Amino acid sequence: MDGNSWVFLWSWSRTFTGRLNRELQNLEDRIKTVGSLSEGESKWIFKKSGKEIYSSKIVASSIDDLLLEGNQPEPETLRNNLLPQKLRIFVWRALKNRLPAKVELDKRGIHLESLLCPLCNSEYETVEHAIFSCHHAKMVWEGILKWWGFNLGLNIGMNNAFRGLSVGAFSGFPKDLWQAIEWVTGYSIWKNINLKVFSNDNWAIPKIINEVQVKSFEWIKNRAKFHHMD
Ligand SMILES: [Zn+2]
Repeated sequence: MDGNSWVFLWSWSRTFTGRLNRELQNLEDRIKTVGSLSEGESKWIFKKSGKEIYSSKIVASSIDDLLLEGNQPEPETLRNNLLPQKLRIFVWRALKNRLPAKVELDKRGIHLESLLCPLCNSEYETVEHAIFSCHHAKMVWEGILKWWGFNLGLNIGMNNAFRGLSVGAFSGFPKDLWQAIEWVTGYSIWKNINLKVFSNDNWAIPKIINEVQVKSFEWIKNRAKFHHMD
């Protein structure tokens, strides 16, 4: 408080635009209605079901809890020994619609200004749309299919791709190998959507395809029993 009026001196770690800016403005307006506070230090307290929560990390993990409630991973049907465990968890979350796509957050009561896909801005952002049916994602899949020499059109969908039932399963390649590539592709697409949204990175298709190639090579080479892999 400066005399009778509020002065806000924030120190955020990033700059806000759009909706966040308006929410911050609303927050300041609401704080002003509190009137004057007594001398001394004030602090923030987030409350979630009666419990006091202090850090944004805990708030983030409570959003995660919202998304992850329920069943445990399917250990038998979702296994790929060529990849680290985090890929299996990613794929499981995707198949259960438990990635924080906008539509999923909205279903769980988290208010968002828009539910549209941040890449095409024309369809709702579901997990399936973001990773498979958005034309921005399709271009990545197209590059990956070309890299593997598959020329069977683009009817890759989440269920087929992540459960290892798509084109490559019938190609004569070891099934696990093509499935691993699909998992890494989905993972990289999702990761890059988040980089675009939260760090304003470019959506650069050749870069994402290259990332899939480098990461899948690194992961598979470490785990596979193929002795000469280039
Ligand atoms: Zn889209």
